[in-house]
Amino acid sequence: MSDKVLLDYGSGGRASHRLIKDLFLKYLGGPALNRLDDAAFIEDMHGPLAMSTDTFTIYPLFFPGGDIGSLAVHGTVNDVAMLGAEPRYLSCAFLLEEGLDMQDLENIVRSMSEAARNCGVQVVTGDTKVVPRGAADKMFINTTGIGRIIADPAPSGSRAEPGDAVLISGTMGDHGLAVLAHRQGLSFETDILSDSRALNGLTCNLIRQVGNVHVFRDPTRGGLATTLNEIASQSGMEILVHEERIPVHREVQAGCSFLGLDPLYLANEGKFISILPETLAEKALELMRSHPAGRDAALIGHVREGHRGRVILKTSLGGHRLLDMLEGEQLPRIC
Ligand code: MG
Repeated sequence: MSDKVLLDYGSGGRASHRLIKDLFLKYLGGPALNRLDDAAFIEDMHGPLAMSTDTFTIYPLFFPGGDIGSLAVHGTVNDVAMLGAEPRYLSCAFLLEEGLDMQDLENIVRSMSEAARNCGVQVVTGDTKVVPRGAADKMFINTTGIGRIIADPAPSGSRAEPGDAVLISGTMGDHGLAVLAHRQGLSFETDILSDSRALNGLTCNLIRQVGNVHVFRDPTRGGLATTLNEIASQSGMEILVHEERIPVHREVQAGCSFLGLDPLYLANEGKFISILPETLAEKALELMRSHPAGRDAALIGHVREGHRGRVILKTSLGGHRLLDMLEGEQLPRIC
């Protein structure tokens, strides 16, 4: 194969087949994918099911703590997990720009394969398109995931209830700041890594061992502030969170001050919000902190009746301020 991606690789002809066999099947192959039929044959899934899709356009392709390949697996696996489901299968579509370095593509596909293995999902169907130079920026990936829902009822952003505790699984803003600092060539005191990781191991443990989770939601684009606003408005509730209880790495805080950003609006790719009855909060926190994905878990606030759809931040100085949703994206191509 050439050391650059050629238009022929997306042709559906002999060159495409070589790419599929020598690259995609080599790393992502399995019983379903290897059949090379028009669709994946799946015989072991019974409802209720959760399904989610996401397209990854992150720039740059490789960033501290991850790359577009592992991110494309984690992002979709996590969205499926947020419905109280055990993710099982993924589809994966690549949109490649002519001239992309083959070594970069191979590294990304290998990284996807490792990520998929680590979170227990199989890639069962896929697609590759190559567009002429300039028609896309290097590569974009779409993944769709499907999983079996193991929570009854399934968690939903609309199920927050008055008195519920609001928990987060760890520090806020790591992914957003890591990518931004890398893009701008800024180096801070310590290198900040993206938190990109799969959350299904921990969310499934919470469902099985604590139960009655009302809401799971991963605060990706728009960060914690935006995601809490979505939950407050879906549930018709007010949410109060305490600034000093929200864990933020010292380096992320410093980077945010330097760049004039707020960590509560920065993207996370390996954290989740969990909202459940106050009586279960201690047990949930203990379980979260004993798992690598939840070491810095914290109870940051509560749900209450009040102004529907409003999120209030109690500041470290004791004042209150409205934690609003952003008008638009502050960092394009962050995932
Ligand atoms: Mg999500």
